[in-house]
Amino acid sequence: ATERTALFMFFGATGDLAYRKLYPSLFNLYKKGSLRTHFAVIGTSRQTLDDDKFRVAVKKSLADSGNRADSKEASDFISHFYYQAHDVTDTAHYSVLKDAAEKLDKKYKLQGNRIFYLSMAPQFFGTIAKDLKAQGLMSTNEDAFNRLVIEKPFGRDFDSAKQLNDALSNSFEEEQIFRIDHYLGKEMIQNIEALRFGNTLVESLWNNRYIDNIQVTLSEKLGVEERASYYDNSGALRDMVQNHIMQIVSLLAMEQPVAFTDVDIRAEKVKALRSLRVYNVADAATNFVRGQYGSVDNQPDYRHEDNVPADSTTETFVAGKLLFDNYRWSGTPFYVRTGKMLADKFTRVDVVFKRPLVDIFAFPQSQNTPLAANVLTIFVEPHAGFSLQLNAKTNDAGFSTEPIKLDYLVDAEKSKETPEPYERLLHDVLKGDGTNFSSWPEVSYAWKFVDQIRRVWDLQAPNFPNYTPHSMGPAAAEELIQRDHREWIYRL
Ligand code: NAD
Repeated sequence: ATERTALFMFFGATGDLAYRKLYPSLFNLYKKGSLRTHFAVIGTSRQTLDDDKFRVAVKKSLADSGNRADSKEASDFISHFYYQAHDVTDTAHYSVLKDAAEKLDKKYKLQGNRIFYLSMAPQFFGTIAKDLKAQGLMSTNEDAFNRLVIEKPFGRDFDSAKQLNDALSNSFEEEQIFRIDHYLGKEMIQNIEALRFGNTLVESLWNNRYIDNIQVTLSEKLGVEERASYYDNSGALRDMVQNHIMQIVSLLAMEQPVAFTDVDIRAEKVKALRSLRVYNVADAATNFVRGQYGSVDNQPDYRHEDNVPADSTTETFVAGKLLFDNYRWSGTPFYVRTGKMLADKFTRVDVVFKRPLVDIFAFPQSQNTPLAANVLTIFVEPHAGFSLQLNAKTNDAGFSTEPIKLDYLVDAEKSKETPEPYERLLHDVLKGDGTNFSSWPEVSYAWKFVDQIRRVWDLQAPNFPNYTPHSMGPAAAEELIQRDHREWIYRL
């Protein structure tokens, strides 16, 4: 791999995400040669640590993620890590970070390239961005880059997202801001583009003439676990639909980009999102349903989880129908679902084709069951692969048909080699490739859509809990699709 040159400054360097994902991913980039000699990491957070203690923690993070952390390679890598305690609200103290950055820049010949990664509560993003610029931490070297990476959530509605974005854009240009949506780092989500634009067979049928509906399912098996205090303020609509589901849907719905570049792909995603119908009150109420999990056996229901108020009206499940008002998709709905405490952990897209207009096998004396729809499934997690359901003749004496499946599953060996989302995304940041990050226009259209649903839901108290753990959600999610004479393809 091409060696890249940069100084990483991690804010929230002692947090869960940093230890669990960011350091192991950086180490993978090191092992592959994208990072070698000319890089350094400054970890910063409120905690008091020194370089040595920080390095011990980083070493543990590597070991916990399955690396041989006592190897020479690991210790060489870790020797590039430095720590500086810093309260991000203390403006005067940024000068300490600035000095540390300049020292390391010289020591490792980093040419002024800087990546600021904000892995902490979003309420601090604005302040940090302001002081990075005001206190002179951004490189002024003309040939160098300054990049800002930020974690989700990006606001809690359009207004707060806009405020946050305005704050960031006082210091950084849009092309310098990398908004993480880790679903965009997943192998099979990236594969949507290859599947569509690499195959005549697929793309020539990819429209409302041949596709009856598209279903996106992001189901989680676990409940809210220890994230309750964050989650209860957010809910499934904000936590999953506004970002991950909207990103997946826009990749499925967009037109073919002029070229395979971030600028061209983003332009098409934005165009698709602009033609997504924003619902009025009545349509929002019929086209989206919510749920909250009840209790089963000795497991508490959502309202009895730690740190959840006993009268919480936060949804742990959402299902909805999305409609695009454009030439390609008019009349072909996208159904989406996501929730916690469901039957299984699964991320998949089911593309349901229209049945043949005439079923010639259904002549009067025939015993044949009606032809099944062709379904193209994209398996994202836990297994990666595709499946295509076709109709074929059964091998018995008469003439009947049955659905068969052509399956391609990525084998275990290959799956193990597949880079983790964070490794890919960090690599993209190093290259300056914004393809797999959400741009501000995408984020803003997604919020405007989601805000309408939220507005309607906030008018009426829900009847929670309304679904049994380990099911596929509330009955309302079934009704939502059955009303349109359709069914969820993925079911129990
Ligand atoms: P965390 O609570 O584990 O870590 C927060 C970090 O911020 C700690 O290092 C803490 O010391 C530091 N910090 C807090 N206040 C500070 C201050 N005033 N000045 C300096 N440092 C301060 O959080 P996390 O789980 O690592 O999440 C980080 C970000 O990533 C959040 O935006 C979160 O929403 C997002 N995220 C996390 C995950 C995950 O799996 N943990 C997944 C997706 C997104």
